[in-house]
Amino acid sequence: MKIIQIDKEKWEDGLAGLSEAYRLFGPVKEAEFHNFAELAKGQAPDLSCLNTRLSPKSIIYPQSEALLEYTLDESREDHHIMKEAKTDYSPRAIIGIRPCDAKAFLLVRHNFDTPEYKDPYWIKAREATTMVGLACDSPCSSCFCTTAGCGPFHEEGLDVLLVDTGDAYLAKVLTDKGENLLQAAGWDTAADPAAGQQLETLQQEAESKISASVATDGLTLVDATELYHAPFWEEVSFSCINCGTCTFVCPTCWCFDIQDENSGKSGKRMRNWDSCMFPLFTMHGTGHNPRGTKLHRVRQRFMHKLKYYVDKYDVGIQCVGCGRCVRSCPVNIDIRRVCELMNNYGSGQDTCAA
Ligand code: SF4
Ligand code: SF4
Repeated sequence: MKIIQIDKEKWEDGLAGLSEAYRLFGPVKEAEFHNFAELAKGQAPDLSCLNTRLSPKSIIYPQSEALLEYTLDESREDHHIMKEAKTDYSPRAIIGIRPCDAKAFLLVRHNFDTPEYKDPYWIKAREATTMVGLACDSPCSSCFCTTAGCGPFHEEGLDVLLVDTGDAYLAKVLTDKGENLLQAAGWDTAADPAAGQQLETLQQEAESKISASVATDGLTLVDATELYHAPFWEEVSFSCINCGTCTFVCPTCWCFDIQDENSGKSGKRMRNWDSCMFPLFTMHGTGHNPRGTKLHRVRQRFMHKLKYYVDKYDVGIQCVGCGRCVRSCPVNIDIRRVCELMNNYGSGQDTCAA
């Protein structure tokens, strides 16, 4: 695949050219952390951050999104008709998305784009988006991407992979969408023949810095019902306060709720992120709640990511090892440890240390 070199002196001019053809999103500083946001004209993404506090999933799948709208005002011709809400699906590009976050969209696609069910909102937004990744050269200590089916230079889900070499970026063109974006930016798209070796060396250096890992080879072997009844869930869930932070920061969590919001005679049907960690998520109209305790809810989160998803889709765990839930959990519940307990269950190494 072609690799070009983008001189950093030409970087911002290229972005300015891109902003004529794309809505641009990238990491920006918010107080003491970074998050993805739409960039204003002339604003450059801050590519100095290790990773953002929240994942960029909201660019495709907003935290709150109008799906349909309606009016009951009988003086209007379209009264009592549910119409698709107006959404901007013009071309957009995410500049500086990390490889783990780009791969996460592939895992999530198994929920939103299947042969039986197609979510038009998610699909249209994803199709409109070009992903320009930034390889990690300083992974966080809580990252475990290399054992979660991903890596600091992973290419799946990306259209272009950028590698920072100091005065320049190497840009590996991965798709036609990526090639079109580089042309729109006006960056010289002639291949750099020496860049392949340089990129490979930097990749090996970055991968060697990741020391955290998870073993997942036993997850398909262990029986789901036995795992569900494993004794360690009591201890794992004990300190959880069901705040839902782990699910909101996660690029691979997709649970939502749908609510109608009325104002006068008109209204919108909204889709809002929800969380399996919230008691109301599974509350029935009868008042019965099949996941009525935090043990039920914590178990559900881990069983879904590390067992049900694994068995159902056969594409590995529903996690890319970004480490956000590890860094953000206020009571230090660590998916790497829970994965170890689940992976080893039945092999004699499943006891919880006091
Ligand atoms: S972030 Fe931690 S405390 Fe909050 S719901 Fe998740 S596991 Fe529980
Ligand atoms: S489960 Fe945790 S480590 Fe895995 S993708 Fe989600 S936030 Fe990242």
